[in-house]
This record gives sequence, C-alpha cells and structure tokens, in this order.
Amino acid sequence: MEDRDVVQWLCEELSAGGARDRDMGELEALVDRRTLEIRRQVLQRLVQDEADRTEFGCPVCGEKLSMVHRGRQRTVASTVGPVSFARDYGHCGRCESHAAPADAALGLHGRASASPRLQEICALTVLHGPAGRAAEDVRRLAGVGVCASTLHREGFRQGERALELRERDIRRAETPEGAALLAAEARAAPGDATLIIEIDAWNIRERDNWGLTEAVREAGGDTGRWHWVYTGTVFRLDQSGTTQSGRAVVTDRGYVATRAGIEAFERQMHVEALRRGLLQAETVLVLGDGAVWIWNLAARRFGRASQRIDLFHVKQHLWELAAKLHGKGTPEAELWIQPYLRWLERRKNGALDIIESLEQLQLRTDADGAEAIARELGYFREHCGRMDYKAAKAEGQPCGSGAIESTCSQYQRRFKLTGQFWSLEGDEAFLALVTLHRNGRWHQLFPHNLN
Ligand SMILES: [Zn+2]
Repeated sequence: MEDRDVVQWLCEELSAGGARDRDMGELEALVDRRTLEIRRQVLQRLVQDEADRTEFGCPVCGEKLSMVHRGRQRTVASTVGPVSFARDYGHCGRCESHAAPADAALGLHGRASASPRLQEICALTVLHGPAGRAAEDVRRLAGVGVCASTLHREGFRQGERALELRERDIRRAETPEGAALLAAEARAAPGDATLIIEIDAWNIRERDNWGLTEAVREAGGDTGRWHWVYTGTVFRLDQSGTTQSGRAVVTDRGYVATRAGIEAFERQMHVEALRRGLLQAETVLVLGDGAVWIWNLAARRFGRASQRIDLFHVKQHLWELAAKLHGKGTPEAELWIQPYLRWLERRKNGALDIIESLEQLQLRTDADGAEAIARELGYFREHCGRMDYKAAKAEGQPCGSGAIESTCSQYQRRFKLTGQFWSLEGDEAFLALVTLHRNGRWHQLFPHNLN
C-alpha cells in the first residue's frame, strides 16, 4: 500500500465523520485524535519487534542470562497512549543481578513509567513551572494526560540523571586527560581571550517537613529552612556585547548552581570554566561581591586569575559611610561622596587615594564617626587590590557582577514556583536539571531529536 492510499482512506474517514466547516485548529485536533490509536498500535508493534530481536544477554557484562520469566509484560505511557510489550526477564550469574535486556535495548530505565519522548516533554514542562500546572500544559501540547505526580517523578528522575552527568564531569576534571577532554569542548578563542567568572550565592527556602506543614504551622513552628545556593557564570569577553537597546548579551555562557556546599561548587565551577576556555584564555578574571569565600575559592582554584569586587557594592559602602557622617540623603552626604566616586572609577589606584583621604579624615572626626571610618577603612584595605575600575574600563571588562546577579534572580524566580513539590534531594536534582538545560546540554539526556 502506498502512502497516498493511507492518506486517501483517512481523509474519507474524517470527512464522513464530520470534518467539515471547521477551522484549522479543530482539524489539527481531529487528525490527531483520529490517528492516535493507529499511531499507538504502530509504535507498540515496532517496540515489540525490537524486544523480540534483543539477545538475551546481560546489559552490563554480556553474559547469557538464565530465564526467570518468559514474556513478562511491561506497559509504558507514550505520547500516543499506553504501549505494552512482552519481554524476557532473566538473571546474570556473573553480576548477580536481574535484567530485562529488551528494556536496555529500548533505552528504558527500569523505573521509567514513560517513553523517552514523553519523559522529555515532562522534564521540559516542569523546568518552566510547577508540576500541577505543567500537567495541563502537557495535556494541551502532547494530547496525553499525565498526572502531576508522574510529572514530578519524571522531573526528579531526569534531575538525577543530570546529577550523574555532573558527577562524571567532576571525576573527569581530576585527571589531566579528562581535563583536556573537557577543555576540548571550548569554542575556538582568539589568542588574547579573556575569560570572566562571576560568583554569587542566594537563599532557597526548603520545606523538608512536607505533609506536616499545616500541623507545624498551627503549633507555631517554622516550616521552612534556608539553604545557600552557590551560583556562578562563565563566559568569554569577546563573546559578550550589548544589543541596540543596551541590553547585555552573551552568545556562549556557562552556568553552575548547587546547594551541595562551597567545595562542590568549586569543583563544578572548575569543570564549567574548563569547558568555556579556561586553559585557552590569556586573562582570567573573577568577579564577586565582598564575600570572603569567593576570594578564597578564586585563590585556591583560579590562582592566576585577577580578582575584582563588584563596583556597586563598593559604592554602597561609601554611601553608608556618607549617611553615617552627614545624614542619610542629605546634600552634605551627596557633596562629601562625589570625589570618592570619581576617584574610584577614573583614577588609577583610586582606592588607595580613598584610603589615604579616609585616614586623614579619621583623625579629624568625633569618636562615633572615627569608628565608622575605621570599619570602612578595613574594607577598603582588604579589597583595594580588587578595585582597579579604570583599567577595567580601558580593557572593556565588566566592573560589576551584574551577569551573575541576573542569573541568580532567574533561578530564584523559578524556585519560588516550585511550591511544595520539591523535597530536600529534589532541589539539588532540579538545580542540576535546570542548569544542564541552561548550559545547552539537554541533548545529553535526550539525544533522539538530533536525528
Ligand atoms: Zn552480567
């Protein structure tokens, strides 16, 4: 039978079934519905053929399995409805484990309740919204009903796969050969390339007593906990620019986000920097706010990098001192701060001039003021080596860590939407999933669409 015979037959079927005087949207839905069962049966038969062709060997070691259950049924939800197939289930004497080789050949994890394509749709929709709302989106997009708990489970399972990939890359970075492999992923760079690494942290609120929430709240207890999410972004200066409307754009940019602690973050940041050209870059620059862990990390992991403290944070310190000495928002405060702001941005080593000026001022001020000045002097003395904004501007480098701050707020927006669905472990898995997607590596989880 030719394709056109099938088409002819379907058109006649649909016309007879009332496919007249409908708009295109209705026709699309009609074709979808009418062919759904046909497509489901085709998929089911092809899956069964594939299962029948699979050799009965251990998916891990290849050893022939001993039969435990012949023709055991498995049903998987797909974009065309439930698909059932029979496959043999056996035992490997060498690995001392059970396996259904057909599952492995079909790319179906033992715990997967959905087909790979449906898994992908579930994971993509939960990236953008809570599972409850995503269920309705999936129903409209894929035409199949998936309940919120399935979506949640799939999102979590894909998150775990993303975590595994992350772990694999961290192990890779520990050997010179592995690091070279990661570095080979970096795009070709000009000889004088500058790599920018921006680092920050934000808080995530955790509901680790889900289910008890109401009872705990009634008892007056705290139902949430705060956790730090360490976040970084890395990009090459020559791949960033601004749009006509002045918005900053970076064509190729890597992200890291984890709540597994500073050490874990440091290793992940290193991996991502390798992939974005750490070894090829002539200049490496780390940007952050005043947090001491950032500079310790930079010194440990990116020893040859220059360090720069976010200009906005430095200005805030000056404004606070201005308010302390001359009153918040007064013309005197405004007048007092102006030369400092100018020196900071326009003078080479402007921070040293500020220190000198503040030292003199300290001697002429009352005890209260002198104490405030002493505090800020400590800040400027500690960070003055990270304040060369004049040189930064001359080199076209960023003076602030705006890129990472906007990254953090994007993550935060999504995580405020997660509601009560994500458990303790879930948050890290979900962070890994969101980050893998942001890094443009979605195909590592779902390679099917590449063909
Ligand atoms: Zn085996």
